Parts: sequence; structure tokens; C-alpha cells
Amino acid sequence: MKNIAILGSTGSIGKNTLEVISRHRDKFRVTALAVKNNVSILEEQIAEFKPDVVAVFDEAAAGRLRKKNPSVKILSGEQGMIDVATLDGVETVVSAIVGSPGLVPTLEAIKAGKDIALATKEALVMAGHLVMSEALKRGVSIIPVDSEHSAVFQCLEGRDMEEVEKIVLTASGGPFLKKSVQELMNVTPAEALNHPNWNMGKKISIDSATLMNKGLEVIEARWLFNIPVEKIGVILHPQSIIHSMVRFIDGSVIAQMSVPDMKGPISYALSYPERFSNVLPPLNLAEIKELTFEDPDINKYPALALTYNALNAGGTMPCVMNAANEIAVEAFLSEKISFTKISRVVSDTMAEHKVMKGNTIEEIISASEWAKQRAGEFVDKN
Ligand code: MG
Repeated sequence: MKNIAILGSTGSIGKNTLEVISRHRDKFRVTALAVKNNVSILEEQIAEFKPDVVAVFDEAAAGRLRKKNPSVKILSGEQGMIDVATLDGVETVVSAIVGSPGLVPTLEAIKAGKDIALATKEALVMAGHLVMSEALKRGVSIIPVDSEHSAVFQCLEGRDMEEVEKIVLTASGGPFLKKSVQELMNVTPAEALNHPNWNMGKKISIDSATLMNKGLEVIEARWLFNIPVEKIGVILHPQSIIHSMVRFIDGSVIAQMSVPDMKGPISYALSYPERFSNVLPPLNLAEIKELTFEDPDINKYPALALTYNALNAGGTMPCVMNAANEIAVEAFLSEKISFTKISRVVSDTMAEHKVMKGNTIEEIISASEWAKQRAGEFVDKN
């Protein structure tokens, strides 16, 4: 029986994780849950999974939950998230908090020696070197939940990294694959949220439409697999059946395929190195018939170029890119800026950043705060 804590249990990854666990109650126990503020869904999860401890980031929401559930141990604030992440007896922490708030609890979980099933890619985007060196030091495994990285992880099993020529991340291209650069100027949040293949949270859906999500995944792959950025490529594959692939030095390519459903990578991250049954429906290639591919157009998806620039600049720059993007996406969702302005706000913020090494968490967080502030000013100027 593996004891699991889930950071971000009411989001899309969190709910899918609980669904996977509910099919394998003999193998997993939900020991702790942490959420930002959605206590109505958390209450249902408490009733169903009976965790020992829960944490609610938002103090007011935590107070409401305490009144209604006096018998449950309910923590709150950032400390509550950290307490869940480091709880005694927990073996694996599913890190699925949206965005930069996921960094500190994830890092604390690693320091406490917990294995990580990592969905919060921002932890690696913001502080990949810190997170990975801490994991190495503590001997903890970081198993990717991101579908692309789960695919690469599976393709690399048993291989030597010296044999890898290139990691190729696939991208669906999002809902605007067929739109021209001109047409992108007037797209609405509702259109951008309408992803063709994946049903995800709002932030990641917008990031998928700009391809910033793929950019963040390039950075994630750089740290997770300790591979230089030149060896990471991106290809558009609208059907989202091949979740990513690895090309080896002999020219052979290994790809991982399945129907697009996050329960696949979540289940593998929890069951690794085993595989569990009853996870995904079979893949019917004869029904799908066609798998197509194309190179991404950088003019249409400038976020991808920003990513490579950020990685080449190094230090705190990827963290700044991520923070500016969070502000820009929020501004687009609340209709303060247009879709094409998202990347503009990010690149303007990056252009003003003086790169620091980012060797401490304080430096990382201060760069992130600076970028959020500056990006907010670019949004207001708009
Ligand atoms: Mg992904």
C-alpha cells in the first residue's frame, strides 16, 4: 500500500489522480490533500477518500471548511501546503498545483525525501537546477506526469543518455492550428479555452493555444532528463496520439502512443516501475487512420522562440518568462489584453530582466515577483 499526498486535488490532474486511485484502492491510500480554495469539491473528496489531513491555501475558505467538518484536521496557508507535502508516512507526493505557487511545497517535499509525481512543470521551469540537485542529493525520484515527459521517460527506460540524439516533444497546436497570424489577433478567451484533444484547466489551455505550454515543457525536459537544449525539438501532431518520442544515435526512433487521457501518465507515475490494468481504453489506430506532423511556425507561435532564448540566457530568465506569462494569461482571460499580446508582454518583460544566477530559492522568488509586477505594468499600459 502506497501512501499518497496530492497537492492540487481539485484541479484537472488532481481529480484524475483520485480517479486512478479509486480503481486501485488495494494499492494506494490517499493520506493528504491540499487545495487552493475549492472547498466544495474538497469536501466530496474528504467524504470519499478519508484523508488524515487536508490543507486549504485560502484562510477564509479553510475557516468555512473547519466549521462544517470539525472532525477533520484542516491546515491552511502556505505552511499548510508545506505540511501536507512533507507529512510523515507519505511516500509519493503528486505535485499538481497550478503555476508558480507549486514550487516551494514541491521543493520541501523533495527535501523531506518524498518521491514526486510531477505535474507542476513550473517547479522545473523556475528552479530546475535547484529542484534536480536537491532530488539527487536526497535520492528521490521525480516521475513526470506531463504526458510528453511521461512518454519520453518511457522511451528512455533502460537506455543510456549517451545514445540519445534528440528528444522530440509533440504538440497538438491547440485550437488555432488552422488560423492565420492575422486571425489570431481577434480570438476570444472562450475560443482559446476550447482545446480539441485535451480537457484541461484554464491556464494550461491558454498556454496550449500560444504554445507557451510546449515552451515550458522544453525547459521541463531540459532539467528532467539533464539534456542540452539543442537536443530538444518540438513537432506539431494534431491528433495527440504520439505523446513524444526519442531519436537515438543509430537513427532509430521510439515513440509512445495512447489515447489522449491524463489517466495514462498519472497511473504510470504512481505505479512505476509496474504497469497497472484498467487505465486507458485500447488505442484503435485503424479507426484513427491518420497521424500527421508539421514543423511549428515561429511567427505564429513566438512563445516557442522565447523559451529557447530564456534557456540560453539561463539563470533566472526562464523563471521570469514563466511569471510574466502567468500575468499575461490572466490578463487575456479577463479580456484586458488580446491573445497575441500575451507573448508580447512576456518578451517585453524578459527584455528588461537582468539575469541572476538563481542559486537560491529567495533569488528565484524575487525574480518571479519582479516579473509579475513588471508584466502587470505592461498589461496596464496596453
Ligand atoms: Mg503536456
